[in-house]
Amino acid sequence: MPELTVVTALRLEALAVGGRTTVAGMGRHNATTTGARLSSSLPPDAPVVVAGVGGGVSPELRSGQVVVATEVRTTGDGRHRGLPLPGASIVANELARSGLDVRTGPVVSSDRILGRRQRAALWETGALLVDMESVWLAEQLAGHPLAVVRVAADSMTHGPVVGGLRTIRPLMGIRTPLERWACALGRRDVVLAAPRSFCAGVERAVDIVERSLERFGAPVYVRRQIVHNTHVVADLQARGAVFVEELDEVPVGATCVLAAHGVHPAVHIEARKRQLNVIDATCPLVAKVHHEARRYARQGRHLVLVGHGEHEEVVGTMGEAPDRTHLVETIDDVERLPLARDEPVAYLTQTTLAVDETAGIVDALRNRFTDLVGPAAHDICYATQNRQDAVSALAGRCDLLLVVGSPNSSNTVRLVEVARRQGCHAELVEDEHHLQLSWLDGVSVVGVTAGASAPESLVQRVVTALGILGPIEVREQRTSTETVRFSLPQKVR
Ligand code: SF4
Repeated sequence: MPELTVVTALRLEALAVGGRTTVAGMGRHNATTTGARLSSSLPPDAPVVVAGVGGGVSPELRSGQVVVATEVRTTGDGRHRGLPLPGASIVANELARSGLDVRTGPVVSSDRILGRRQRAALWETGALLVDMESVWLAEQLAGHPLAVVRVAADSMTHGPVVGGLRTIRPLMGIRTPLERWACALGRRDVVLAAPRSFCAGVERAVDIVERSLERFGAPVYVRRQIVHNTHVVADLQARGAVFVEELDEVPVGATCVLAAHGVHPAVHIEARKRQLNVIDATCPLVAKVHHEARRYARQGRHLVLVGHGEHEEVVGTMGEAPDRTHLVETIDDVERLPLARDEPVAYLTQTTLAVDETAGIVDALRNRFTDLVGPAAHDICYATQNRQDAVSALAGRCDLLLVVGSPNSSNTVRLVEVARRQGCHAELVEDEHHLQLSWLDGVSVVGVTAGASAPESLVQRVVTALGILGPIEVREQRTSTETVRFSLPQKVR
Protein backbone atom coordinates (compact mmCIF):
# COMPACT_ATOMS: atom_id res chain seq x y z
CA MET A 1 0.00 0.00 0.00
CA PRO A 2 1.43 3.44 -0.93
CA GLU A 3 2.49 5.79 1.84
CA LEU A 4 -0.04 7.93 3.73
CA THR A 5 -0.22 11.56 2.57
CA VAL A 6 -1.39 14.13 5.11
CA VAL A 7 -2.48 17.56 3.87
CA THR A 8 -2.84 20.56 6.16
CA ALA A 9 -3.58 24.22 5.48
CA LEU A 10 -0.91 25.67 7.78
CA ARG A 11 2.72 24.84 8.52
CA LEU A 12 1.95 24.90 12.27
CA GLU A 13 -0.64 22.17 11.76
CA ALA A 14 1.85 20.15 9.69
CA LEU A 15 4.45 20.44 12.46
CA ALA A 16 1.92 19.21 15.02
CA VAL A 17 0.84 16.22 12.92
CA GLY A 18 4.48 15.34 12.22
CA GLY A 19 5.98 13.10 9.55
CA ARG A 20 5.72 13.85 5.85
CA THR A 21 2.96 16.40 5.38
CA THR A 22 1.89 18.58 2.46
CA VAL A 23 1.03 22.19 3.32
CA ALA A 24 -1.71 23.47 1.00
CA GLY A 25 -2.19 26.99 2.33
CA MET A 26 -5.54 28.40 3.46
CA GLY A 27 -8.73 28.79 1.46
CA ARG A 28 -10.53 27.45 -1.58
CA HIS A 29 -7.97 28.33 -4.25
CA ASN A 30 -4.99 26.79 -2.42
CA ALA A 31 -7.01 23.70 -1.54
CA THR A 32 -8.20 23.14 -5.13
CA THR A 33 -4.72 23.67 -6.60
CA THR A 34 -2.96 21.41 -4.09
CA GLY A 35 -5.68 18.74 -4.37
CA ALA A 36 -5.35 18.67 -8.17
CA ARG A 37 -1.54 18.46 -7.96
CA LEU A 38 -1.63 15.59 -5.46
CA SER A 39 -4.28 13.75 -7.43
CA SER A 40 -2.12 13.73 -10.56
CA SER A 41 1.10 12.80 -8.73
CA LEU A 42 -0.08 10.13 -6.24
CA PRO A 43 -0.84 6.50 -7.15
CA PRO A 44 -4.64 6.03 -7.40
CA ASP A 45 -4.83 3.89 -4.25
CA ALA A 46 -2.67 6.21 -2.12
CA PRO A 47 -4.49 7.10 1.14
CA VAL A 48 -4.89 10.80 1.93
CA VAL A 49 -5.90 12.54 5.15
CA VAL A 50 -6.94 16.17 5.28
CA ALA A 51 -6.00 17.32 8.78
CA GLY A 52 -5.88 20.50 10.82
CA VAL A 53 -8.02 22.61 13.11
CA GLY A 54 -11.52 23.93 12.48
CA GLY A 55 -14.16 26.10 14.12
CA GLY A 56 -16.76 24.41 16.26
CA VAL A 57 -20.30 24.81 14.92
CA SER A 58 -22.09 22.47 17.30
CA PRO A 59 -22.55 24.01 20.77
CA GLU A 60 -21.80 20.55 22.19
CA LEU A 61 -18.36 20.43 20.58
CA ARG A 62 -15.53 21.26 22.98
CA SER A 63 -12.18 22.76 22.08
CA GLY A 64 -9.67 19.95 21.47
CA GLN A 65 -12.25 17.38 20.40
CA VAL A 66 -11.38 15.57 17.20
CA VAL A 67 -13.99 15.54 14.43
CA VAL A 68 -13.83 12.92 11.70
CA ALA A 69 -15.99 14.05 8.79
CA THR A 70 -18.79 11.73 7.67
CA GLU A 71 -19.23 14.09 4.74
CA VAL A 72 -17.81 17.39 3.55
CA ARG A 73 -19.84 20.15 1.92
CA THR A 74 -19.79 23.88 1.22
CA THR A 75 -21.88 26.45 3.04
CA GLY A 76 -24.20 26.63 0.04
CA ASP A 77 -24.80 22.87 -0.19
CA GLY A 78 -27.48 22.64 2.50
CA ARG A 79 -28.19 19.46 4.39
CA HIS A 80 -28.29 16.89 1.59
CA ARG A 81 -25.58 17.61 -0.98
CA GLY A 82 -22.32 16.68 0.71
CA LEU A 83 -19.50 14.44 -0.46
CA PRO A 84 -19.82 11.31 1.73
CA LEU A 85 -16.79 9.78 3.47
CA PRO A 86 -17.95 6.24 4.35
CA GLY A 87 -14.80 5.29 6.29
CA ALA A 88 -15.37 7.95 8.96
CA SER A 89 -16.47 5.68 11.78
CA ILE A 90 -13.58 3.26 11.15
CA VAL A 91 -11.06 6.11 11.34
CA ALA A 92 -12.84 7.61 14.36
CA ASN A 93 -12.77 4.31 16.27
CA GLU A 94 -9.04 3.94 15.64
CA LEU A 95 -8.38 7.51 16.84
CA ALA A 96 -10.55 6.90 19.91
CA ARG A 97 -8.60 3.72 20.72
CA SER A 98 -5.51 5.97 20.90
CA GLY A 99 -7.14 7.95 23.70
CA LEU A 100 -8.43 10.89 21.65
CA ASP A 101 -11.86 12.41 22.26
CA VAL A 102 -13.52 11.85 18.89
CA ARG A 103 -16.85 12.68 17.25
CA THR A 104 -18.11 12.07 13.75
CA GLY A 105 -20.34 14.33 11.68
CA PRO A 106 -20.54 16.64 8.67
CA VAL A 107 -17.80 19.23 8.15
CA VAL A 108 -18.58 22.35 6.14
CA SER A 109 -15.99 24.37 4.24
CA SER A 110 -16.38 28.14 3.91
CA ASP A 111 -14.26 30.47 1.78
CA ARG A 112 -14.47 33.16 4.44
CA ILE A 113 -14.39 33.33 8.23
CA LEU A 114 -17.87 32.96 9.69
CA GLY A 115 -19.43 34.80 12.59
CA ARG A 116 -21.53 33.37 15.40
CA ARG A 117 -24.88 33.75 13.64
CA GLN A 118 -23.63 32.08 10.45
CA ARG A 119 -22.16 29.19 12.42
CA ALA A 120 -25.45 28.79 14.29
CA ALA A 121 -27.19 28.52 10.90
CA LEU A 122 -24.76 25.75 9.91
CA TRP A 123 -25.53 23.91 13.16
CA GLU A 124 -29.17 23.91 12.04
CA THR A 125 -28.07 21.86 8.99
CA GLY A 126 -26.48 19.22 11.23
CA ALA A 127 -22.86 20.31 10.69
CA LEU A 128 -20.34 19.84 13.51
CA LEU A 129 -17.45 21.96 12.38
CA VAL A 130 -16.39 24.49 9.74
CA ASP A 131 -13.03 24.86 8.01
CA MET A 132 -11.72 26.59 4.89
CA GLU A 133 -10.32 23.76 2.74
CA SER A 134 -11.65 20.21 3.26
CA VAL A 135 -14.39 20.04 0.64
CA TRP A 136 -12.18 21.42 -2.15
CA LEU A 137 -9.32 19.07 -1.30
CA ALA A 138 -11.78 16.17 -1.08
CA GLU A 139 -13.34 16.98 -4.47
CA GLN A 140 -9.92 16.74 -6.14
CA LEU A 141 -8.91 13.59 -4.23
CA ALA A 142 -12.27 11.78 -4.31
CA GLY A 143 -10.88 8.64 -5.98
CA HIS A 144 -8.42 8.00 -3.15
CA PRO A 145 -9.03 6.38 0.24
CA LEU A 146 -9.74 9.66 2.03
CA ALA A 147 -10.36 10.88 5.57
CA VAL A 148 -10.92 14.37 6.95
CA VAL A 149 -9.76 14.81 10.54
CA ARG A 150 -10.15 18.19 12.21
CA VAL A 151 -9.56 19.32 15.79
CA ALA A 152 -12.13 21.79 17.10
CA ALA A 153 -10.89 25.24 18.10
CA ASP A 154 -12.94 27.51 20.35
CA SER A 155 -14.10 29.85 17.65
CA MET A 156 -13.69 30.62 13.97
CA THR A 157 -14.06 34.32 14.69
CA HIS A 158 -10.39 34.77 15.55
CA GLY A 159 -8.96 32.36 12.99
CA PRO A 160 -8.47 28.62 12.89
CA VAL A 161 -5.50 28.33 15.29
CA VAL A 162 -7.15 30.13 18.18
CA GLY A 163 -7.61 26.93 20.17
CA GLY A 164 -3.85 27.02 20.80
CA LEU A 165 -2.40 24.14 22.75
CA ARG A 166 -5.78 22.51 23.18
CA THR A 167 -5.88 21.82 19.44
CA ILE A 168 -2.17 21.18 18.93
CA ARG A 169 -1.93 18.32 21.43
CA PRO A 170 -4.69 16.20 19.76
CA LEU A 171 -3.18 16.95 16.35
CA MET A 172 0.11 15.51 17.64
CA GLY A 173 -1.75 12.27 18.46
CA ILE A 174 -3.43 11.54 15.14
CA ARG A 175 -0.48 10.42 12.99
CA THR A 176 0.04 6.91 14.46
CA PRO A 177 -3.62 5.76 14.32
CA LEU A 178 -3.92 7.23 10.82
CA GLU A 179 -0.86 5.23 9.75
CA ARG A 180 -2.64 2.11 11.08
CA TRP A 181 -5.68 3.02 8.96
CA ALA A 182 -3.45 3.39 5.90
CA CYS A 183 -1.79 0.00 6.55
CA ALA A 184 -5.22 -1.67 6.92
CA LEU A 185 -6.39 -0.56 3.46
CA GLY A 186 -6.27 -3.02 0.59
CA ARG A 187 -7.94 -5.63 -1.59
CA ARG A 188 -9.07 -8.78 0.29
CA ASP A 189 -10.94 -12.07 0.10
CA VAL A 190 -13.62 -12.48 2.74
CA VAL A 191 -14.72 -16.05 3.51
CA LEU A 192 -17.90 -16.49 5.54
CA ALA A 193 -18.10 -19.66 7.61
CA ALA A 194 -21.41 -21.52 7.34
CA PRO A 195 -23.28 -22.37 9.46
CA ARG A 196 -22.87 -19.24 11.58
CA SER A 197 -25.02 -16.86 13.60
CA PHE A 198 -28.45 -17.66 15.15
CA CYS A 199 -29.24 -21.26 16.12
CA ALA A 200 -32.77 -22.66 16.51
CA GLY A 201 -32.74 -22.10 20.30
CA VAL A 202 -31.83 -18.42 19.97
CA GLU A 203 -34.35 -17.87 17.12
CA ARG A 204 -37.02 -19.37 19.37
CA ALA A 205 -36.05 -17.29 22.44
CA VAL A 206 -36.08 -14.00 20.51
CA ASP A 207 -39.35 -14.99 18.84
CA ILE A 208 -40.88 -15.69 22.26
CA VAL A 209 -40.07 -12.17 23.53
CA GLU A 210 -41.35 -10.55 20.32
CA ARG A 211 -44.60 -12.53 20.38
CA SER A 212 -45.05 -11.88 24.12
CA LEU A 213 -44.79 -8.15 23.44
CA GLU A 214 -47.40 -8.47 20.69
CA ARG A 215 -49.75 -10.65 22.72
CA PHE A 216 -49.47 -9.19 26.22
CA GLY A 217 -48.20 -5.68 25.43
CA ALA A 218 -45.21 -3.84 26.92
CA PRO A 219 -43.65 -4.09 29.34
CA VAL A 220 -42.70 -7.74 29.14
CA TYR A 221 -40.09 -8.60 31.76
CA VAL A 222 -37.18 -10.86 30.85
CA ARG A 223 -35.05 -12.50 33.54
CA ARG A 224 -31.38 -12.02 32.56
CA GLN A 225 -30.18 -11.51 28.98
CA ILE A 226 -32.59 -13.49 26.81
CA VAL A 227 -29.52 -14.60 24.80
CA HIS A 228 -25.94 -13.47 25.35
CA ASN A 229 -25.77 -10.65 22.83
CA THR A 230 -25.83 -6.96 23.68
CA HIS A 231 -27.34 -5.93 20.33
CA VAL A 232 -30.22 -8.41 20.58
CA VAL A 233 -30.94 -7.25 24.14
CA ALA A 234 -30.82 -3.55 23.19
CA ASP A 235 -33.15 -4.14 20.24
CA LEU A 236 -35.74 -5.93 22.40
CA GLN A 237 -35.36 -3.26 25.10
CA ALA A 238 -36.22 -0.61 22.53
CA ARG A 239 -39.41 -2.53 21.73
CA GLY A 240 -40.60 -2.70 25.34
CA ALA A 241 -38.82 -5.63 26.97
CA VAL A 242 -37.51 -4.90 30.48
CA PHE A 243 -34.50 -6.96 31.49
CA VAL A 244 -34.10 -7.83 35.18
CA GLU A 245 -31.57 -9.80 37.16
CA GLU A 246 -34.01 -11.45 39.58
CA LEU A 247 -37.75 -11.99 39.80
CA ASP A 248 -38.19 -9.70 42.83
CA GLU A 249 -37.74 -6.83 40.34
CA VAL A 250 -40.86 -7.99 38.43
CA PRO A 251 -44.27 -6.67 39.58
CA VAL A 252 -46.63 -9.32 40.94
CA GLY A 253 -48.79 -10.82 38.17
CA ALA A 254 -46.67 -9.41 35.29
CA THR A 255 -45.55 -11.34 32.21
CA CYS A 256 -41.99 -12.65 32.50
CA VAL A 257 -39.87 -14.56 29.99
CA LEU A 258 -37.10 -16.85 31.28
CA ALA A 259 -33.90 -16.73 29.19
CA ALA A 260 -32.67 -19.41 26.78
CA HIS A 261 -29.94 -20.71 29.12
CA GLY A 262 -32.37 -22.33 31.55
CA VAL A 263 -32.92 -21.59 35.23
CA HIS A 264 -32.45 -23.11 38.68
CA PRO A 265 -35.72 -24.82 39.79
CA ALA A 266 -35.97 -22.24 42.61
CA VAL A 267 -36.73 -19.60 39.95
CA HIS A 268 -39.91 -21.45 38.92
CA ILE A 269 -40.98 -21.66 42.59
CA GLU A 270 -40.39 -17.91 43.04
CA ALA A 271 -42.35 -17.17 39.83
CA ARG A 272 -45.36 -19.12 41.12
CA LYS A 273 -45.19 -17.21 44.45
CA ARG A 274 -45.29 -13.92 42.56
CA GLN A 275 -48.15 -15.20 40.36
CA LEU A 276 -46.21 -14.31 37.22
CA ASN A 277 -47.35 -15.13 33.74
CA VAL A 278 -44.19 -17.11 32.93
CA ILE A 279 -43.11 -17.98 29.42
CA ASP A 280 -40.10 -20.23 29.50
CA ALA A 281 -37.66 -19.62 26.63
CA THR A 282 -35.20 -22.28 27.84
CA CYS A 283 -33.74 -23.93 24.76
CA PRO A 284 -35.19 -27.46 24.42
CA LEU A 285 -31.62 -28.81 24.23
CA VAL A 286 -30.79 -27.23 27.61
CA ALA A 287 -34.10 -28.53 29.00
CA LYS A 288 -33.01 -32.01 27.86
CA VAL A 289 -29.85 -31.75 30.02
CA HIS A 290 -31.99 -30.73 33.02
CA HIS A 291 -34.16 -33.77 32.37
CA GLU A 292 -31.10 -36.05 32.24
CA ALA A 293 -29.82 -34.57 35.52
CA ARG A 294 -33.12 -35.36 37.26
CA ARG A 295 -33.21 -38.89 35.81
CA TYR A 296 -29.64 -39.77 36.84
CA ALA A 297 -30.21 -38.28 40.30
CA ARG A 298 -33.32 -40.45 40.72
CA GLN A 299 -31.14 -43.48 39.85
CA GLY A 300 -28.95 -42.57 42.83
CA ARG A 301 -25.94 -41.57 40.76
CA HIS A 302 -23.49 -38.78 41.48
CA LEU A 303 -23.56 -36.22 38.69
CA VAL A 304 -20.45 -34.75 37.14
CA LEU A 305 -21.29 -31.66 35.12
CA VAL A 306 -18.59 -30.57 32.67
CA GLY A 307 -18.89 -26.82 32.17
CA HIS A 308 -17.96 -23.31 33.27
CA GLY A 309 -19.11 -22.61 36.82
CA GLU A 310 -20.05 -18.99 36.31
CA HIS A 311 -22.28 -19.65 33.27
CA GLU A 312 -26.04 -19.33 33.81
CA GLU A 313 -26.73 -22.64 32.07
CA VAL A 314 -24.44 -24.46 34.52
CA VAL A 315 -25.98 -22.69 37.53
CA GLY A 316 -29.42 -23.79 36.32
CA THR A 317 -28.46 -27.43 35.63
CA MET A 318 -26.64 -27.81 38.96
CA GLY A 319 -29.84 -26.68 40.68
CA GLU A 320 -31.62 -29.89 39.62
CA ALA A 321 -29.61 -32.01 42.08
CA PRO A 322 -27.34 -29.65 44.00
CA ASP A 323 -26.37 -32.18 46.71
CA ARG A 324 -25.00 -34.74 44.29
CA THR A 325 -23.65 -32.63 41.41
CA HIS A 326 -19.92 -31.94 41.01
CA LEU A 327 -18.62 -29.34 38.60
CA VAL A 328 -15.61 -30.19 36.44
CA GLU A 329 -13.94 -27.53 34.31
CA THR A 330 -10.58 -29.18 33.46
CA ILE A 331 -8.96 -32.61 33.27
CA ASP A 332 -7.18 -31.84 36.56
CA ASP A 333 -10.57 -31.33 38.26
CA VAL A 334 -11.43 -34.98 37.42
CA GLU A 335 -8.58 -36.23 39.63
CA ARG A 336 -9.74 -34.02 42.49
CA LEU A 337 -13.34 -35.34 42.57
CA PRO A 338 -14.13 -36.61 46.11
CA LEU A 339 -15.64 -39.87 44.82
CA ALA A 340 -14.48 -43.50 45.03
CA ARG A 341 -13.51 -45.27 41.80
CA ASP A 342 -16.54 -47.62 41.89
CA GLU A 343 -19.22 -45.02 42.83
CA PRO A 344 -22.14 -44.84 40.34
CA VAL A 345 -21.49 -41.67 38.36
CA ALA A 346 -23.20 -39.99 35.41
CA TYR A 347 -21.71 -37.15 33.42
CA LEU A 348 -23.42 -34.28 31.64
CA THR A 349 -21.96 -31.37 29.66
CA GLN A 350 -22.83 -27.74 29.15
CA THR A 351 -24.28 -27.39 25.64
CA THR A 352 -21.82 -24.75 24.41
CA LEU A 353 -18.39 -26.20 25.20
CA ALA A 354 -15.48 -26.81 22.83
CA VAL A 355 -15.94 -30.31 21.43
CA ASP A 356 -12.21 -31.16 21.39
CA GLU A 357 -11.55 -30.04 24.98
CA THR A 358 -14.62 -31.78 26.36
CA ALA A 359 -13.65 -35.10 24.75
CA GLY A 360 -10.42 -35.08 26.82
CA ILE A 361 -12.34 -34.52 30.06
CA VAL A 362 -14.83 -37.31 29.28
CA ASP A 363 -11.90 -39.67 28.54
CA ALA A 364 -10.41 -38.78 31.94
CA LEU A 365 -13.77 -39.56 33.60
CA ARG A 366 -13.89 -42.94 31.83
CA ASN A 367 -10.41 -43.76 33.15
CA ARG A 368 -11.27 -42.63 36.65
CA PHE A 369 -14.68 -44.37 37.23
CA THR A 370 -15.74 -47.98 36.62
CA ASP A 371 -19.51 -47.28 36.74
CA LEU A 372 -19.82 -44.24 34.51
CA VAL A 373 -22.79 -43.49 32.28
CA GLY A 374 -23.58 -40.48 30.14
CA PRO A 375 -25.83 -39.32 27.34
CA ALA A 376 -25.77 -41.34 24.09
CA ALA A 377 -23.68 -38.55 22.57
CA HIS A 378 -22.30 -35.65 24.66
CA ASP A 379 -24.74 -32.80 25.36
CA ILE A 380 -22.83 -30.25 23.27
CA CYS A 381 -25.55 -29.07 20.94
CA TYR A 382 -25.70 -29.42 17.18
CA ALA A 383 -25.29 -25.65 16.65
CA THR A 384 -22.15 -25.41 18.81
CA GLN A 385 -20.66 -28.44 17.05
CA ASN A 386 -21.52 -27.19 13.55
CA ARG A 387 -20.09 -23.72 14.14
CA GLN A 388 -16.88 -25.19 15.56
CA ASP A 389 -16.57 -27.58 12.58
CA ALA A 390 -17.02 -24.62 10.20
CA VAL A 391 -14.29 -22.68 12.04
CA SER A 392 -11.93 -25.67 12.00
CA ALA A 393 -12.37 -25.96 8.23
CA LEU A 394 -11.66 -22.25 7.78
CA ALA A 395 -8.91 -21.64 10.34
CA GLY A 396 -6.04 -22.88 8.18
CA ARG A 397 -7.19 -20.90 5.14
CA CYS A 398 -7.38 -17.35 6.43
CA ASP A 399 -4.86 -14.87 7.80
CA LEU A 400 -7.38 -13.51 10.30
CA LEU A 401 -10.67 -14.89 11.62
CA LEU A 402 -13.24 -12.45 12.99
CA VAL A 403 -15.76 -14.05 15.34
CA VAL A 404 -18.83 -11.86 15.77
CA GLY A 405 -20.53 -12.05 19.16
CA SER A 406 -20.50 -10.82 22.73
CA PRO A 407 -17.73 -11.75 25.17
CA ASN A 408 -20.20 -13.32 27.63
CA SER A 409 -21.44 -15.74 24.96
CA SER A 410 -19.89 -19.11 25.76
CA ASN A 411 -20.25 -20.65 22.30
CA THR A 412 -18.78 -17.50 20.70
CA VAL A 413 -15.70 -17.50 22.93
CA ARG A 414 -15.22 -21.22 22.18
CA LEU A 415 -15.09 -20.42 18.43
CA VAL A 416 -12.19 -18.04 19.05
CA GLU A 417 -10.41 -20.68 21.15
CA VAL A 418 -10.94 -23.45 18.57
CA ALA A 419 -9.40 -21.27 15.84
CA ARG A 420 -6.48 -20.15 18.01
CA ARG A 421 -5.66 -23.74 18.98
CA GLN A 422 -5.12 -24.32 15.24
CA GLY A 423 -2.66 -21.45 15.06
CA CYS A 424 -5.10 -19.00 13.45
CA HIS A 425 -5.15 -15.32 14.44
CA ALA A 426 -8.74 -15.08 15.70
CA GLU A 427 -10.43 -12.09 17.34
CA LEU A 428 -13.84 -11.58 18.87
CA VAL A 429 -15.73 -8.46 17.72
CA GLU A 430 -19.13 -7.38 19.02
CA ASP A 431 -19.70 -5.39 15.83
CA GLU A 432 -17.76 -3.41 13.20
CA HIS A 433 -16.73 -0.78 15.78
CA HIS A 434 -14.53 -3.34 17.55
CA LEU A 435 -12.50 -4.07 14.43
CA GLN A 436 -8.92 -3.05 15.24
CA LEU A 437 -7.09 -1.89 12.15
CA SER A 438 -3.72 -3.25 13.29
CA TRP A 439 -5.18 -6.78 12.88
CA LEU A 440 -5.58 -6.18 9.13
CA ASP A 441 -2.02 -5.10 8.32
CA GLY A 442 -0.70 -7.55 5.70
CA VAL A 443 -3.89 -9.65 5.78
CA SER A 444 -5.31 -10.78 2.43
CA VAL A 445 -7.86 -13.44 3.48
CA VAL A 446 -10.29 -12.68 6.31
CA GLY A 447 -12.61 -15.36 7.65
CA VAL A 448 -15.82 -14.22 9.35
CA THR A 449 -18.15 -16.24 11.53
CA ALA A 450 -20.60 -15.53 14.34
CA GLY A 451 -21.65 -17.23 17.54
CA ALA A 452 -25.12 -18.74 17.85
CA SER A 453 -26.44 -15.67 19.68
CA ALA A 454 -25.19 -13.04 17.18
CA PRO A 455 -27.58 -11.93 14.42
CA GLU A 456 -26.53 -12.17 10.77
CA SER A 457 -27.04 -8.40 10.44
CA LEU A 458 -23.92 -7.88 12.60
CA VAL A 459 -21.90 -10.17 10.31
CA GLN A 460 -23.01 -8.07 7.34
CA ARG A 461 -22.00 -4.86 9.14
CA VAL A 462 -18.49 -6.27 9.71
CA VAL A 463 -18.26 -7.31 6.05
CA THR A 464 -19.38 -3.82 4.99
CA ALA A 465 -16.63 -2.30 7.15
CA LEU A 466 -14.06 -4.56 5.48
CA GLY A 467 -15.41 -3.41 2.11
CA ILE A 468 -14.87 0.22 3.07
CA LEU A 469 -11.19 -0.58 3.65
CA GLY A 470 -10.75 -1.79 0.08
CA PRO A 471 -12.31 -3.97 -2.65
CA ILE A 472 -13.45 -7.35 -1.27
CA GLU A 473 -14.51 -10.61 -2.82
CA VAL A 474 -16.97 -12.41 -0.55
CA ARG A 475 -17.71 -16.13 -0.64
CA GLU A 476 -19.16 -18.66 1.77
CA GLN A 477 -17.59 -21.92 2.89
CA ARG A 478 -20.31 -24.31 4.11
CA THR A 479 -19.54 -27.43 6.11
CA SER A 480 -23.13 -28.44 7.02
CA THR A 481 -26.75 -27.41 6.56
CA GLU A 482 -29.04 -26.91 9.54
CA THR A 483 -32.74 -27.70 9.42
CA VAL A 484 -33.49 -27.78 13.19
CA ARG A 485 -36.56 -25.78 14.29
CA PHE A 486 -38.14 -25.73 17.76
CA SER A 487 -41.82 -25.17 18.37
CA LEU A 488 -42.97 -22.23 20.50
CA PRO A 489 -44.63 -22.51 23.92
CA GLN A 490 -48.44 -22.72 23.81
CA LYS A 491 -48.91 -19.25 25.34
CA VAL A 492 -47.31 -17.45 22.38
CA ARG A 493 -48.14 -19.82 19.53
S1 SF4 B 1 -26.47 -22.90 21.26
FE1 SF4 B 1 -27.49 -24.89 21.26
S2 SF4 B 1 -28.22 -25.14 23.36
FE2 SF4 B 1 -27.73 -22.98 23.10
S3 SF4 B 1 -29.65 -22.05 22.46
FE3 SF4 B 1 -28.58 -22.62 20.58
S4 SF4 B 1 -29.36 -24.66 20.07
FE4 SF4 B 1 -29.89 -24.27 22.19
